[in-house]
This record gives sequence, structure tokens and C-alpha cells, in this order.
Amino acid sequence: MFVFGMKNLSNYRLKKFKLQRLVDICMRKSMWRVKRKKWAEIARERMLILLSLAHDEALSHNFERARRYVFLARKIGMKYNVSLPRKFKRNVCKKCCSFLIPGYNAVYRLKRKKITILCKNCGRRMRVPYK
Ligand SMILES: [Zn+2]
Repeated sequence: MFVFGMKNLSNYRLKKFKLQRLVDICMRKSMWRVKRKKWAEIARERMLILLSLAHDEALSHNFERARRYVFLARKIGMKYNVSLPRKFKRNVCKKCCSFLIPGYNAVYRLKRKKITILCKNCGRRMRVPYK
């Protein structure tokens, strides 16, 4: 009786079998990569929407709601390994998650080739070098 297993395969068929398995693994990996890219894209889109909402709320002095939106956006970014969009990167406090608007709740100063951003809510300073 023929039992399908590794022992009954000839050398050629064994090689073919191993190659097929390797191809399968590679395909699975590439599929995973494609899926991850798709997820990251969706996450980026959602973060952008949330941050623009936060911007609007902060401009109309609803700072608590803006903070909530920023918190959600940061959470999404952490889950899907996506950094904050460049447009809003300097407007978010990483400690208390408040949306920073210069003149309202943040102080921006240029000092020694660095932008120093002071969050008036929690007092955290962020330093960003510029050319
Ligand atoms: Zn802060």
C-alpha cells in the first residue's frame, strides 16, 4: 500500500517538494508585506482625519476634545507602526497629547539653531534642529 510521506518520495520529488514549500513561505511573506502596507495606508488616512479634526477643535478652544482626537491618532499610529504625519508633527505634545497652536497653548522660540517648543499645558519642551 502506498502511503504518502517523506520516506516514499524519490530524491527528485523531495527536492521539488522542498522548493514548493519555500515558494509557499515566500508567497505568504510577500502577501503579509502587501497587507501591512495596505493597513499602514488606511491608518495614515485615519490619523490625518483625526488630526485635522483636532486642529479645528483647538482653534475653537475645545482643547479637551482636541486632546482626545490626538490621543486616538497616536494610538492608531502606535498600533500600525506609523509615525505622525509631517504636517502635524510639530503641533502635538508627546507627553500630554494636547494639540499645540502657537500663541494659544504653546511657545515657539528659535535658539542655537533649534526650535524650542514649550507646551503650556504640561511644561514639556521639545527641541527640533533646523538648518
Ligand atoms: Zn504637553
